[in-house]
Amino acid sequence: MCLSSAEICPCQAPDAGASVFISQSLGVDTTAGRFGDVSLLTCKTCGRLWLHYYVVYEGIPRSGRWFRGLITPVLAEDLDPLAATQVLEQLPGYFYGGSYFDSSGQWGQGPVQVDG
Ligand SMILES: [Zn+2]
Repeated sequence: MCLSSAEICPCQAPDAGASVFISQSLGVDTTAGRFGDVSLLTCKTCGRLWLHYYVVYEGIPRSGRWFRGLITPVLAEDLDPLAATQVLEQLPGYFYGGSYFDSSGQWGQGPVQVDG
């Protein structure tokens, strides 16, 4: 792990692909009848931890959306999938995108639009 503030790591790109990370499933967020896939992503380059949330509503075109927020190791240690959206909303910001937003990745903050 070698961090330099001058260096931009691939994980900090809004549209960073799956190959940038090691992904570990944390479970499913079943709040309000949705099935949000919650994963912990570890950047292969810098080791940063990201909380990843993905939800899509079957049968609803362009409903897929994901959120990815940088979290601390302490937060990652005991992360309840049911609390994942709250964790994202409490961060200073997060990346989000998907067909629902017609975006491959952009920066946002505050409430996450996860409900169908
Ligand atoms: Zn990184």
